[in-house]
Amino acid sequence: MSTFDPSCLFCKIVQGDIPRYGVFEDEETIAFLDIHPLFPGHVLVAPKSHAVTLTDLPPSAVGPLFEKVQLLAKAVESAVEADGTFVAINNRIGQTVPHLHVHVVPRRRRDGLKGFFWPRHDYQDDEAREAVRDAIERELAKLL
Ligand code: AMP
Ligand code: ZN
Repeated sequence: MSTFDPSCLFCKIVQGDIPRYGVFEDEETIAFLDIHPLFPGHVLVAPKSHAVTLTDLPPSAVGPLFEKVQLLAKAVESAVEADGTFVAINNRIGQTVPHLHVHVVPRRRRDGLKGFFWPRHDYQDDEAREAVRDAIERELAKLL
């Protein structure tokens, strides 16, 4: 079932109430140029139906969305002759538009984007590592 939130910026973009530089559209998905690109060619790929985060998306919609992400990653990389791409989703934290969207950002060697030089937080010891692994496995067992 498709949902629409009248107060949502990207729902308005889906409806055509706010202009976009669209690059792709089908029944379920929309892709358009980010208004403040990290680099030219930065696109956002979003489900048309309103969902805030990846975990809010119905599982049956995940495949169709990511098929389009894959398609756009190929097209963007070729279109701007990039060396690769960065594909990412902010879920609540760091998310400024609360309608799920996947960033597809063209990358080049030495392009200055330091996003993945985030500080790492290593496990204190193997016990701490195992406790986290076990907790994730327990949660997965509840979901599967
Ligand atoms: P995030 O911070 O992950 O929620 O990403 C939101 C993205 O939406 C940002 O990269 C913005 O530049 C972009 N954005 C905001 N408003 C618009 C708009 N009207 N059209 C296209 N992109 C937008
Ligand atoms: Zn929305």
